[in-house]
Amino acid sequence: MEAAKKRTAERLARERAAKLAKRSQSEREPGPVGFMPRHHLDIPRSMMKTSIAILLHLASRTFVLFVLCITLGMAQAPAPIYYTVRIPAAQTHYVEVEARIPTAAQPRVELMMAVWTPYVIREYAKNLESVTARTDDGRPLVIEKARKNRWRVETGGADPIIVSYRVYCHVMDVQDNWVDDEFALLNGASTFLTLAEHAARPHDVQIILPPTWKTTVTGLPSVPGSPHHYRAPDYETLVDCPVVAGNPAVYEFAVEGKPHYLVDVGEDGVFEGGRAARDLARIVREDAKLWGGLPYDKYLFLNLLTGGAGGMEHSNSTALMSDRWNTRTHLNYLRWLEVASHEFFHTWNVKRLRPAELAPGEYETEPYTTSLGIAEGFTSYYAPLMVHRAGLSTEEELLATLSRAIRELQTTPGRLVQSLSLSSFDTWIKFYRPDENTRNTAISYYTKGEVAGFLLDARVRAATHGAKSLDDVMRLALARNPAGGGYTPAAFRSAVSEVAGTDLSAWFARVFDSTAELDYREALDWFGLRFSGESNQQAWLGADTEAEDGRLMVTHIPRGTPAYEAGLDTGDEIVGFDEFRVRPAAWDQQLANYQPGDRLPLLLARRGRLIRVTVTLRQEPGLAWKLEAATASPHRAVW
Ligand SMILES: [Zn+2]
Repeated sequence: MEAAKKRTAERLARERAAKLAKRSQSEREPGPVGFMPRHHLDIPRSMMKTSIAILLHLASRTFVLFVLCITLGMAQAPAPIYYTVRIPAAQTHYVEVEARIPTAAQPRVELMMAVWTPYVIREYAKNLESVTARTDDGRPLVIEKARKNRWRVETGGADPIIVSYRVYCHVMDVQDNWVDDEFALLNGASTFLTLAEHAARPHDVQIILPPTWKTTVTGLPSVPGSPHHYRAPDYETLVDCPVVAGNPAVYEFAVEGKPHYLVDVGEDGVFEGGRAARDLARIVREDAKLWGGLPYDKYLFLNLLTGGAGGMEHSNSTALMSDRWNTRTHLNYLRWLEVASHEFFHTWNVKRLRPAELAPGEYETEPYTTSLGIAEGFTSYYAPLMVHRAGLSTEEELLATLSRAIRELQTTPGRLVQSLSLSSFDTWIKFYRPDENTRNTAISYYTKGEVAGFLLDARVRAATHGAKSLDDVMRLALARNPAGGGYTPAAFRSAVSEVAGTDLSAWFARVFDSTAELDYREALDWFGLRFSGESNQQAWLGADTEAEDGRLMVTHIPRGTPAYEAGLDTGDEIVGFDEFRVRPAAWDQQLANYQPGDRLPLLLARRGRLIRVTVTLRQEPGLAWKLEAATASPHRAVW
């Protein structure tokens, strides 16, 4: 029974493949040769299936059963979904998708759109419209919504079915879609409807470009000889490989014999792509040294110089969004290198060394993990460190980046409320959904995780008298991480203890699981550092303010500040101080005329009513979190 069903499915798959080969020949549009990574080898599945069929005919009946058992195992890969993506009017920000979906002649199939990508619910289905279904010969099929992100199609036994829809692509974010007359960024999760199933089904994507666009670039495997045509072995890979289309500038460089590409959209003669590619090569080399090789065939830095911000890691690519002016000043360039370094470090830490809870396969409900302090935080610790090891920043610049994280942690009241582990667990409702009270109640797992990485690195180095470091921990954790399985918090912690040669579970309990203040002494001693910083003598109110239509508005009141204690509130307008009118543009200067300890009467407007409060100004704490060299420690030279 089971075998017979599978055999039918295999025959259907063969017929579909033959039909589709015909279709794609007629539909393929002549066009410029796209971006064809050269180190790709893709054996067409139909070839494999044909040889299986010949074998079956030649064999005896008993042998047939035997071979059938083996070949069914080989033939388990389900029939592909074929997508054709068109961009007929790029300026309207739409792509049109036609999906040819195998149904195995089931009377009803359910289609799914991903709900989240790391680490927030994004509701990609909201950008879909005009979703229709038909048979291969054009007969309309009933399709209706089954959930916010699901559609149910009554197939009437048709196989395949054709589902068409339009996607509005106007979110300038590395995790979403953008289409305009210059370029497109298409992410798998936000573009492709797929069968609601857990199967390793190939997803085949043919992109039809607007006439003036020449190039598509993606980490997806190319279909040889077919421009702008890619085949993901499964939905996970499709989601993990964003596509950039347009006319980007592409810089190729090799590290360890593997091709890497810096793909710049929006250079406009400003961003120095050649220099950036050379510097990325140095970072890639350092990472290869740390991890012991490069785990991919090719790698792409999709560098969107579009004024947005952010980066998203993938197995063999990253999407970066920033500003074309970033190569003009040294500090901005350093920030750009650090973001690229962060995303590249994820090639291992997250994509291959991942928390067990983040194993791929679930796209509709959010997975909960307490390990983002390791996944994101340690990556943030390593990002500037790898830039430094690559010789692209000075020791002072490395310390400045680390100091910023320490200062942010130590001046965020939420560090005393939310632990690092809980910050990770609640990312879905807190980190990506901040409000005016977030700083009082939450701490970023990026920030505290970065500082924790620094402290743990020093802990391991000190415990082993410099023989081992966090590098050894990461390598061991990766070696222990079964392919695709992921680590539990306990497994990671025990790997750390093993490398350090001492039980560090109490250290993790304090730094990750509690809100206790961090102890910096050991790290400062080991690296020969100290905290410094000019203490600011200026009077400090402690409220965040913004000028809005000529009014000075309070946007945030951190706990423990003079403003918090005096009863100022978010949304208050500061109208006057003493007997004087506030001028928003000069507010800092006006405050600078006072001293810590002065009592300052303020006139506020709150919901249309005037209120008087008196604030006792203080000296601003937290300015002394600047790391600097205290001794000429040899340990910094091998950091
Ligand atoms: Zn990250």
